[in-house]
Amino acid sequence: MKLTGITFLSTYNCNASCSHCFFETKGASKYMDTDIIHKVFEDSSITKHMTWVHVSGGEILINQPKCFEILETIHSYFKKNIGISTNAFWAKNKKLTFNTIQKLISYGVTGIAVSADYFHSPYIPITNAKRAVQAIVENGIRTHCYIMGARCNVDIVNSTEINSICQHIAEHVQNKTNMPLAPTQIRSIGFGSNINIPKKTKIPNGMCSELSECLGKRGPMNPSMVWVDCYGNVMICYGIIIGNVFKTDFSTIISEYTPKQNKIISILAKQGPKGLYELAQTLKIKTPHKFYDECDVCFSCRKALQKHFEELGPPECYPTGFNNNTIL
Ligand code: SF4
Repeated sequence: MKLTGITFLSTYNCNASCSHCFFETKGASKYMDTDIIHKVFEDSSITKHMTWVHVSGGEILINQPKCFEILETIHSYFKKNIGISTNAFWAKNKKLTFNTIQKLISYGVTGIAVSADYFHSPYIPITNAKRAVQAIVENGIRTHCYIMGARCNVDIVNSTEINSICQHIAEHVQNKTNMPLAPTQIRSIGFGSNINIPKKTKIPNGMCSELSECLGKRGPMNPSMVWVDCYGNVMICYGIIIGNVFKTDFSTIISEYTPKQNKIISILAKQGPKGLYELAQTLKIKTPHKFYDECDVCFSCRKALQKHFEELGPPECYPTGFNNNTIL
């Protein structure tokens, strides 16, 4: 695998638990230690072609000292684009917000994505997101900065109402800053699977092609980025582990990656998500029988299969139940 970039999931912990989130944030206390960063960058031959690094969560600024430590360590190895995502819950007043952004920049951050939409709004005052956006612009960084907001797929229950609220919130947070809006469709991964209803009766039988949507059509045959989480898991999609840096060198995990390396990935590569559904039926493991799209088949069947395959984890990537916080 030739890496173009890495997203570090520094924690699954968050002050919020949005109903479209990929992860179970409740009870997820672990925060990444810098030894994981050292292990990832120890062999520069693996990371030298990368053009970007992203740090995301959970909410990365839920533990600011640890967050700054992680960023400083990444920057000691990597001098190109370092982006972060945040829900700006911490942006409680103008001075604090400006200083926090300034600190992030001093630790090498070149791009900041602020989440603001209908799903975050029950947890984070919209004024905080607006304040963070203003402070980002006043600190003069413009590249890779955007207002990130979930959008429902148009065939989803209440999508028109929810999407118009999301657009209204995004424009309010943007105010006069011209910071680009980055609306993203809700994926059927994690709690997002609960949002993407009604389900289809016919089981979607396409191949996996959304591994990393921002990098074009990518599947298990041609991944070009990985997620590295706070446990040292290296994943090609949320919850699909190809190795752990505490067990195997990062360079070995990446250079020896093949679409045949484990049962789940080889089925995904050859048969697509529907192959996981058939595997679960063969193993007599209970799964849903109606799904919204291929990622929904994949995620829902992986969740059912999770305790039977060590390449499926950690538990935070397989949330159960609902995060009922939204009004509509
Ligand atoms: S959820 Fe499954 S089908 Fe969707 S991108 Fe991830 S691996 Fe591919």
